[in-house]
Amino acid sequence: MSAQHEAGTTVHRVVILGAGYAGMAAAIQLAARVKRREDVRVTLVNAQERFTERLRLPMTATGQQLAELDIPELLEGTGVRFVRGWVTAVDADAKTVRIDDDRVLHYDTLVYGLGSAADTAAVPGVEDHAYTLNSAQDAEVLADRLARLGSGTVVVAGSGLTGVESAAEIAERHPELNVVLLGRREPGAAMNPKAKAYLQAALDRLGVQVRSGVEVVKVLPDTVELVGGETVAADVVLWTSGMRVSPLAAAAGLTVDERGRVVTDDALRSVSHPEVYAVGDAAAIRQGYGVMHGTCQGGMPTGVHAALSIVRALRGKQPKPFRFGYYHTPVSLGRDDAVVQFTRPDDSPRRTHLTGRLAARYKEMVTASPWPTFGRMKKMPTSGAVWPRGGRFTRVRDAR
Ligand SMILES: Cc1cc2nc3c(=O)[nH]c(=O)nc-3n(C[C@H](O)[C@H](O)[C@H](O)COP(=O)(O)OP(=O)(O)OC[C@H]3O[C@@H](n4cnc5c(N)ncnc54)[C@H](O)[C@@H]3O)c2cc1C
Repeated sequence: MSAQHEAGTTVHRVVILGAGYAGMAAAIQLAARVKRREDVRVTLVNAQERFTERLRLPMTATGQQLAELDIPELLEGTGVRFVRGWVTAVDADAKTVRIDDDRVLHYDTLVYGLGSAADTAAVPGVEDHAYTLNSAQDAEVLADRLARLGSGTVVVAGSGLTGVESAAEIAERHPELNVVLLGRREPGAAMNPKAKAYLQAALDRLGVQVRSGVEVVKVLPDTVELVGGETVAADVVLWTSGMRVSPLAAAAGLTVDERGRVVTDDALRSVSHPEVYAVGDAAAIRQGYGVMHGTCQGGMPTGVHAALSIVRALRGKQPKPFRFGYYHTPVSLGRDDAVVQFTRPDDSPRRTHLTGRLAARYKEMVTASPWPTFGRMKKMPTSGAVWPRGGRFTRVRDAR
């Protein structure tokens, strides 16, 4: 069945899974473009009604109150049907999605945007003894623990940008705690030398003890064990390392990469199931410079592009290729400090960067911008369809 017949019209059902940065962008862009069409129905499924500002989870983890961003409220007037629930299965042959095991949604087109999380399965003990920032609830549980700790050591495992932002935020909000940042690479490794030096000096100023070139191989209730057998005492471990995605795409038989991300064609359609679009962190999207890595700056354009592609397909036109080039890496270092590394489209660092309060204001502007962008897109869809295409970096696509 390619579409549902209702009261004499054939309705094309688009189901969007995940109301993160990418899924929200897809839902609002699509709804705004098909507003006058009664033959298209858009449904958005998400675990929570409240929008999770993942970029702000280190703030949540340190007890800072965030704005209540209500997804159904934002969707008012768009025509998008919101379904709150946990997606438990996708049947790509029957074109159905199972919610909370007992509800079934049928789709003609699926947009898969279930995001990603830190990989808690790769190292023994993480699942049992470490905290994560995988959801707002996880961050709130950590906030509660940190507030009750009083003294002791917090080990932040993973020296990527999430680890750096979390360590800085915890050190600033909890000066009574020792904060140790452990990881293979030095913090800010992908930045230019001056930006990296600034970032490292800021961590030092906040009292964060950095140990790079180390690998955690086990997490125990009160220590972490490193390669070689050394142990580091830890009252709390925050795990930010690695990346995993929902196993649902692989279980559905969609072609996925080695990390379980849906492999897409240049229009963001699954290479095995073209009626499925994949967006955001859950998608393996190849550009001229390689496969995109998960960011909000790239995730929102993927959602918008998928919506535009669906609109074109509904009109019988061919979708256009997706092109995206990175432009910055903003990293907060507590509330009043940050580094913003400007990048080339392939994410390599340029010589220009911002630091200090100006950078903190820039980072806050970036972090606060998605929600108002969604609001603007409701009335003016083109306002969300502007992003750097990457110039010569994305003009040539590698063969798959
Ligand atoms: C601490 C931190 C800081 C970051 N800082 C930056 C930054 O400064 N700049 C930047 O560009 N990127 C940043 N990122 C990365 C950015 O947050 C992600 O790339 C972005 O969230 C990806 O968007 P998404 O829509 O693909 O997924 P998400 O935003 O993760 O959204 C996925 C949605 O799907 C829902 N979901 C998942 N599984 C299910 C299910 N089975 N059923 C129902 N719902 C489900 C989730 O609840 C969520 O609402 C940061 C990430 C973290 C963790």
